[in-house]
Formats: sequence, C-alpha cells, structure tokens
Amino acid sequence: MGRLDQVYERAPVWLQHAMVSGYGLYWRWARFGGEFKRRVEAYRQRDAFSKDQWAAYQQDRLRSLIAVCAHHVPHYADTWTGAQIEAALNGELEALPLLEKDDLRRSPDRFVRQDMHPFMKFPFQTSGTTGTPIQCTYTLAELRDSLAVREVRSANWASVSFSEPRATFSGRMVEPLPSRETHIYRYNLAEKQVYFSAFHLKTQTAHLYVEGLKRHKIRWMTGYAVSFYLLAKYILEQSISTPEIKAVITTSEKVTPEMREVIEKAFHTRVFEEYSTVENALFASECEHGRLHVSPDVGVVEILRPDGSACEPGEVGEVVTTCLARTYQPLIRFRLGDLAAWDDALCPCGRQMPVIKEVVGRIEDVVTGPDGRQLVRFHGIFVDQPHVVEGQIVQESLREFIVKVVPVEGFGEDDVEEIKQRMHQRLGPEVDVQVQPVSEISRTQAGKYKAVISKVP
Ligand SMILES: [Zn+2]
Repeated sequence: MGRLDQVYERAPVWLQHAMVSGYGLYWRWARFGGEFKRRVEAYRQRDAFSKDQWAAYQQDRLRSLIAVCAHHVPHYADTWTGAQIEAALNGELEALPLLEKDDLRRSPDRFVRQDMHPFMKFPFQTSGTTGTPIQCTYTLAELRDSLAVREVRSANWASVSFSEPRATFSGRMVEPLPSRETHIYRYNLAEKQVYFSAFHLKTQTAHLYVEGLKRHKIRWMTGYAVSFYLLAKYILEQSISTPEIKAVITTSEKVTPEMREVIEKAFHTRVFEEYSTVENALFASECEHGRLHVSPDVGVVEILRPDGSACEPGEVGEVVTTCLARTYQPLIRFRLGDLAAWDDALCPCGRQMPVIKEVVGRIEDVVTGPDGRQLVRFHGIFVDQPHVVEGQIVQESLREFIVKVVPVEGFGEDDVEEIKQRMHQRLGPEVDVQVQPVSEISRTQAGKYKAVISKVP
C-alpha cells in the first residue's frame, strides 16, 4: 500500500472527500486538459469515415508503427525476423507472431520505445480479464486520447458527456473500513463525479447509493456492469424511487440481457455497453442502434481460429488486437484472452466501423460476504502483486476462502500477508483466508480461466 493510501485510510471522512477532490483537480488536468478537445474533434471527424478511409488510415498507422517497433522496441527488435517485418510492412499483419500477456507481464520495459522520452508517464496496473497482472505505461497525450475516444464514442453516442455529473463504480476502495457503511461514496468536485464503493453494495445500503445520485444531481453512470445490476436489483426489490438518469454505460464485464433489463427497469434509462481494456488495446462501444462498434483508430482487431486463420462473421474466435492509439509501449497482435464474433450486417446508424456481435467469456462470478452482501471484481486482489503470475479465489463457504496463487521467485510471507489483508479489507476480519501456492490454475471444461469460483449457492 502506498503512503498516500495509508494517510487516506486514517483520515476522517470530510478529509477523504477533500483528498479525492484535490487529487481530482490534478487528474482533471491530466485527462481533460491540453489537447483533449482537439483529440475529441479528431475522433468526431473520423466517425464519418468510409470503409476505404478506415482501411487507408489503419494501413498508414500500421506501417509507421511496425517500422518503429522493428528498430526501437527491444522485444520486437529481438524476436521479429526480417521476412516477417517485410511482409508486415507490405500489409500482411498476420505475418507477425502473436503477443502473449505473459511476455508483457514479465518484462513491460522491453515493450517501451527507446526513441521516445516523454516528460510524464502514467503507469497503470491491471489484472486483465484473465487475472494476469500487467503494467502498462501511458504518456500524457495517450491518456488524454483514451478519454477523448470515450467522450465521443461512449458518452456522446449515449447522449451524455464527461462535462456532466457522473457516478462511477470501480474497484477503488473509496471506503477503506468495511464496517463504516454510511459513507459508501466519495465526491470528486473537480469532475463532478461520485465514486461508489462496489464493495459495500448490499440490500441495506442500496438507498444510500440512490441518495448520492440525487444529492449530486448525477446525469449518467459508468463502471462495472455487475455492480449496476446488483444495485438495480436491490432498488426494484425495495421499490426505491430513482432520479432521472440519462444513460448507464457499463464497462469491464459483459452485460447479459437479463442484467440489461434489470438495470434499465430500475433507472428508467438505457444501458450502453463499452468493451475496452486498461491497456486501451481495443475499444468498442454501443451506438444508438444497440450495435457494438469497434473503433479502428484505437486498434486493429482480429478474431482468430485456433489455427490462426481469421474467423468468418458469426464464428466465435479469439480476440487479438494491435494498438494504434498507444504507441509509447506498442502492443502488436496482443492476445486479450477474450472470445468474440463479428457481425457483418450493416448498422442503421451508418457508421462504417466493424461490429462485434457478441463478446463471450467475461462474465465474472459474484462472491457472497458473511453478512450476505454480494461482491464483485475480486481479481483486483492480484493487481500490483509482482510475485503472482495467476490467481484464483475459491469461496468454499460463507466464511472460508482459498486463494490459489501461481507464484514466481521471490514470493514469500509478505505476499501471503498482503493477499490476506486485501481479502479481509473487502470481506471483513471474520473470514478465514488460506493462501495456497499451486503450480497451475486449472481451467474449466471449456478451457476457460476463472478468476473467481464460488461454491456458495
Ligand atoms: Zn451503429
């Protein structure tokens, strides 16, 4: 835990609000300052691109990116052959090898461009959708760019904007004390943003979330689909009246038709799905006609069969992406670990961006706390754990948890304690947590990795 986190944890609630807002001012500048507006305009203009314009745009970007990678990015310079580079420069991206998450996890620095020396760097840690922690580094321009695409293709498509008050569900521990349930959110004045705690959500606290929406005149909400679903369920069960919300934009996991229906009913609004990753390796968002359009200016997305050939429309395959928006730490043919299928039917909205029919395999299990509350996003336990390759949380009963970890050299008692502490922070001190080093995490019958398994009905 960082020092700032420790100060935050011990601070009174009023000071936590102030710290969130002070921190918020800095982040508002970092995310929405400088060339943010210019980048928003550029994304808006490209919305109207024809298929040919998109193809030309991608080819142009790819060619210069591949040339840079071949010379200035150690991992690619060392592994690509001359023939592979030449073929890729001639438009055959498939000539280049696939990039494994494990390569990036092991040595993120070997993916950084040696010909660039940005004056500000923003590292982000992610456990990714398969639980493998990854460190990715953004430059200031790339950070603003990642918000610009969200403003245009998530928020604006849903008729809202980052300039309007919003509420966010995320894995942040906004309330570090599991017992202090009356303060389930913090307000960031700088961005008129309410951070909701995903970890305090239960039947008894649902009304507090709704009060937060009313007090801060929240216009739209974004974040974990499962959290919105659970909140919506509690709201409907207790017939709590909700303020007018213009849109709910879900991120991080797949929103099922059932989840969508419940959220829309509780908040009397529409759900828009966003499919993206912390690496910003790919970006897809839902248009007004409910189709999930891939942004070709964020990444070149391929959907592949096990033999590496491209899938036909409708055929489920593995998602592989080449990131065009972030080029300081380029990801070329990056295996995301998600499964999806293309839809080749034209969208009535007229946008010429490819449509993903369905993303399969990102539904995460819900863990039930000893007091009955349902919690999500437990693979956050493994974020920023350098000695853990993969992890899995198994809930044996309401009070018994086994955390399986695949350790690397250097794993020790400190790591075990850190994991236990994180579990207790989320679930309360009374749960029993055993940390179990294993050589591998077994896959499901379908070959899928599961970050969370709950044996509690
Ligand atoms: Zn559309």
